[in-house]
Amino acid sequence: VPDTPLPDFVRHLRDILGEASVFTSADDLAPHLVEWRKIYRGHADLLVKPRNTAEVSAVMRMAHEAGILVTPQGGRTGLVGGTVPQGGIVLSLERLTSIRAIEPLSACVVAEAAVTLADLQAEAEKIGMLFPLSLASEGTCTIGGNLSTNAGGTAVLRYGNARDLCLGLEVVLADGTVLDGLHALRKDNSGYDLKQLFIGSEGTLGIITAAVLKLFARPRSVSTAFAGMATPAKAMDLFQSMRSQFGEALTTFELLPEFALDIVLRFQPSLRHPLGSNSRWYVLIEVSQSLGGDHLRSALEESLAAAIEHGAVEDATIAASDQQSAMLWRIREDLSDAQSIEGASIKHDVSVPLKHLATLIEKGSAACIAEMPGLRPCPFGHMGDGNLHFNLTQPVGMERQAFLDAWPRFNRIIHDLVIDMGGSIAAEHGVGLQKIHELARTKQPEALMLMRSLKAALDPKRILNPGKVLLGRS
Ligand code: FAD
Ligand code: ZN
Repeated sequence: VPDTPLPDFVRHLRDILGEASVFTSADDLAPHLVEWRKIYRGHADLLVKPRNTAEVSAVMRMAHEAGILVTPQGGRTGLVGGTVPQGGIVLSLERLTSIRAIEPLSACVVAEAAVTLADLQAEAEKIGMLFPLSLASEGTCTIGGNLSTNAGGTAVLRYGNARDLCLGLEVVLADGTVLDGLHALRKDNSGYDLKQLFIGSEGTLGIITAAVLKLFARPRSVSTAFAGMATPAKAMDLFQSMRSQFGEALTTFELLPEFALDIVLRFQPSLRHPLGSNSRWYVLIEVSQSLGGDHLRSALEESLAAAIEHGAVEDATIAASDQQSAMLWRIREDLSDAQSIEGASIKHDVSVPLKHLATLIEKGSAACIAEMPGLRPCPFGHMGDGNLHFNLTQPVGMERQAFLDAWPRFNRIIHDLVIDMGGSIAAEHGVGLQKIHELARTKQPEALMLMRSLKAALDPKRILNPGKVLLGRS
């Protein structure tokens, strides 16, 4: 219960931010109560759109004093309900869109929270450099959201997650204090690395208002390949030999089951089967480097030819043009849409040490089919990172809702296997609302205690993104 009556609070907020930054009508609030997939619906009393860090600080100072809940929002493309408000204020960062600086020599850019990922990539390109994070939501998702969820994608193998791309942060704490950590230092051992607390914390410990991000040389040679094999273990053999041969040039290594290629081809008639025959499993591979020339492509040809000779790979193709490369990428990129057309999916976003990945796929698929005969497992994704989207497509003809109602049963099966293997039940999209109970069930109690202590230290009134990541009161 807020310490200050809400109408007084709104009046005071309008005095400070102006009328045009504080919204209370149902129409203004409506789009901010749901996120991308519209699975969760929240409620809030007001929406604020501060224009700069000082205004974010003013909002937080007032909310902290009054004990009013605050839910930060970027592009609202998160997939776990993290932006869905549980009352109080929705704090939309959408007006913090400046690129404050871009520095070729230091190879970094200082961007405010609501710069979209696509805009940031374009700014880097203007000075002939690369910002390597790339997601299907990049036109809408924001840097603040990417850092708050520690987003990854299909080039994590080479460049790392959002965390690895961040040199410094400006953060507004729960009580309005501004933490200015916008350093572009590659080396800094002056005590605790505080920015790491806020990266991946899904808005529960502070509001990210700006970040210093790393830029890279643009790759001048890029080769894309598609290969088929009999088992995930064979794909793993190929990964291991390619990593030792290509090192950091191995940029993407994505696994797809035969079922995934089938449904993509069925729903995208413009795409053709890239190989001459079917395999049970496929991988999409990309290698890239800053030096130009044909060397990389010939090395890829040799490597795949050797893998076919040794029996790891059944068939493979290398894109001969940018257009062919784009067609291979579309098989991977169109998979989410193809899955939703094929029927309801129960989703898991998990990671395990690479040595367990093939076993996870085999055991997980067998256990899920035993639980519900006819169910079609579709484990796919960032195999090189040990991160799978272990999706389950509904049995043909089954009623959609009846299938979705079984979600918790399958969570238990997959998550228990993952935990036994020393893995994570939230590898890419975070915890949000969706996985809060599973996190409480599966995370080491000592780690949960420390998370609660950090929450209590940074947000003693528990006003920041309530109901997300951590269950209950500290
Ligand atoms: P939002 O959804 O607005 O917010 C996400 C979380 O961060 C929420 O908890 C929110 O409260 C908090 N937050 C947002 N901004 C701030 C801030 N400035 N300060 C503090 N907290 C904040 N994720 C991946 O990792 N890899 C993928 O490949 C990937 N692909 C996707 C593809 C599609 C089509 C979609 C819809 C989503 C995908 N995602 C992926 C999910 C991913 O989390 C996001 O797209 C992105 O990182 C979220 O950015 P956003 O600005 O939309 O954040
Ligand atoms: Zn992913």
